[in-house]
Amino acid sequence: MIVEKTSHKIFFGDDYSKVALFQKDKVVAEKKRIAIEIFGGKCYICWKNYGSGFAFHHKKYDPNRKKHSDFKNTIEYNAYVIPEIIADPERFRLLCKICHARIDQPRYGYLGHIPKDRLDRLYEVAKETIPGPRKTRKKGGESTPESPTKQ
Ligand SMILES: [Zn+2]
Repeated sequence: MIVEKTSHKIFFGDDYSKVALFQKDKVVAEKKRIAIEIFGGKCYICWKNYGSGFAFHHKKYDPNRKKHSDFKNTIEYNAYVIPEIIADPERFRLLCKICHARIDQPRYGYLGHIPKDRLDRLYEVAKETIPGPRKTRKKGGESTPESPTKQ
């Protein structure tokens, strides 16, 4: 494939290949645009504002589609997956690096490898053990739970 560096076109989807590398800034910008416009610009779990390391987590992988590990780098992967996200955002959650690691990343002792019944019991014990959100005082004396803490 001949790649024109000066091309104003942006290639997404199955045309990702080498072109994506020349379009790095556009891919990064498009990822950010989607994160903000479709997913509200915040991690679904902790509400941290969009920033580096954020990922569109697949709720369920389609075995017919390529995975991140099939690509040389994240830019190529993003160029491939962005049209999928735009077409069907319900299949994804926007997660920050830390929350994504807790769900998906083997090296961080992720939750994804735990069988569902065991995970349910883990949540049950965590919920009865870990204290709820601290109460903060409003001016009127009312107390409300805090939003999730920033990371
Ligand atoms: Zn998070």
